[in-house]
Formats: sequence, C-alpha cells, structure tokens
Amino acid sequence: MKNIVEVKDLHVTFDTSAGKVHAVRGISFEVKKGEAIAIVGESGCGKSVTAKSIMRLLPSPQAKIDSGSILVNGEDVVKKSEKSMQKIRGNEVGMIFQDPMTSLNPTAKIGEQIAEGIMQHSKISKKQAIEKSIKMLELVGIPQPERRVNQYPHEFSGGMRQRVMIAIALACSPKLLIADEPTTALDVTIQAQILHLMKDLQMKTDTSIILITHDLGVVAEMCSRVVVMYAGEIVESGNVEDIFANPNHPYTKGLLKSVPRLDMDKNEKLSTITGTPPDLLDPPKGCSFFPRCEHAMKICADYKPEFEVVGQSQYSSCWLNHPLSKKRSTTV
Ligand code: SF4
Ligand code: MG
Repeated sequence: MKNIVEVKDLHVTFDTSAGKVHAVRGISFEVKKGEAIAIVGESGCGKSVTAKSIMRLLPSPQAKIDSGSILVNGEDVVKKSEKSMQKIRGNEVGMIFQDPMTSLNPTAKIGEQIAEGIMQHSKISKKQAIEKSIKMLELVGIPQPERRVNQYPHEFSGGMRQRVMIAIALACSPKLLIADEPTTALDVTIQAQILHLMKDLQMKTDTSIILITHDLGVVAEMCSRVVVMYAGEIVESGNVEDIFANPNHPYTKGLLKSVPRLDMDKNEKLSTITGTPPDLLDPPKGCSFFPRCEHAMKICADYKPEFEVVGQSQYSSCWLNHPLSKKRSTTV
C-alpha cells in the first residue's frame, strides 16, 4: 500500500543557552494510506518534535532539521518554502494538539474558525464555508451545530473544544492527521469518546493517523502499528498486537510493565523504569538506554546496536538480539 509519510534518517537539533540539544537522532519510519500508527515514549523523547517536523512547525530559529527527509505524499517537506507548507498544512496534513484552548482563537466564533481553514484551501464563499462548518460540527458529534457554529470557544467544554479541533483538522479532508496527546487534558470518559470519534472518522474517511501519546492503553484502542521512541531514537517498532504480546526491547518491556492491566491482582504494584533518560546535549555513543537497563552489557556502553528483525512485524535495536550477545554477556 502507498506510503503517505516516509521519514528517513531525520536529525533535529535545538540551540539552547547550554548548547545543542540532539532532540531527534536519525529516525526512520513510514505511514501507509489509511493506517493509524502510534509514536510512544516518555516526555522529551522526541515524539512531538517529530510531529512538528512533519508539519514544519518547529520553533524557529532555535530548532533545525539538520539532515534527513520527510516525504509527505511523495514530496520532501524539509525542502519546502513556508508558502508551500501553508498549502500542505490543513490540506494534506491536519494536526490536533493537546490543549484545544491554546489552539483556538478566543475572540472568533467557532464557525468562522472552521470556515477560515476551508476558505484557505478552496475557492468557496464564506456562506458555503460556514455551511460546511456546520456539517463538520455534526460529523464530530456536536449537538445543535446550527446554533453552536455562532458560539465562542469559552462556551464549549474541554471535550467539545477538542471535537472542534478535530473538525478543523479534518475540514479539508487531509490525507494524514497528526494527533499529539489529543486527550491528555480531558477526563477519562471524554477521552474515550474523543478516541472513539477519531477511530470512527479514520475508518470512514481512510485518513492516516499518527497518534503521539505516552498512554499505551490508547495505543491498543486506536492503532495497528507502534513506534517506540527513546532519547530521540526509535528503539522498537512493529504491529501493536505483536509488541504488546511480545515486546523485545528492554525499554518497551519497561513501558508495558508500567501500564495497569485488567487481570492485575489488587495488591500488585505497577513497576516503573528507574532513572532518567540521558542528557541530549551530549548523547551517549552506545545504547541510549544503557544506564537504566537491567540487561546492560559492556558493549552497550560503547557501541550503538543496529536495528534487527525480531519477529514477523517487529524491529528492535538491542545488543541482546545479536547472535553473539550471550557469549558477550558472560565475558564482560
Ligand atoms: Fe539494554 Fe544493552 Fe539492549 Fe541497550 S543494547 S537495551 S543497554 S541490553
Ligand atoms: Mg510532547
């Protein structure tokens, strides 16, 4: 199936007063048409930076794409001018952020905000754009859309505002929707409704989704494939079912152990991964997970493990997968 997005060997750095932060370090992945993938990992692992790179919304001038390519529908957005990016944003790629209140304009009516995006990308009258906005509000399950279209953001609840953001993101039928922690600010019931809505819309419209989250429960609900990021790198990727049933990388194992399960004993405690991610001002030369890994071997500190096929759909970068690892672990 056709790839909607192909990220190849992407490197992103941030200039800070302390030096250069290597936020994304050589990641590659693709998203196929109609596919929903998740990017998971702790905060600061480079998930949002990756999303913002695809949209070319990195804070300027501090952040810079140093190398690599990001093909969206076959075209490298890294090389695009801001003007051509404005056409791509909304039209080809829609984005939903964590906090809808900061993304909506408090002084403009909801309908106008949805219509604005529609009018930027197609030659239709304001009246027609408002009519389309009403349809979009209806699509995302907002009751009485004819009335709501004339209201302001503060007249909507958090969950309803996030629905509005989804309406805005989908108004121009983008091929890809990037959702960065879209439900984190919402309570659990509303979270479930929003995720259900996104899943439903994805099935109906065949939009591809990149869902960025630290919540693995959400991943299982929504996505078919998962990319696990750690310290600016991808450490494991594969089908959600395979990775959940049989995680390979010690970091993925740790992440999964920290998720509550239905079959858990009442007294069973969730485990957490001790320690903190490495300082990306001076990234480690070997495996980034080395200081926190209970299986660490000497080679892990000095050499970066390659990506290896570890299952039908799974790739992982860990020295334990190397045929010589057993020998090595006993000799160090
Ligand atoms: Fe642990 Fe070594 Fe594997 Fe890194 S490469 S995850 S340190 S065993
Ligand atoms: Mg983030």
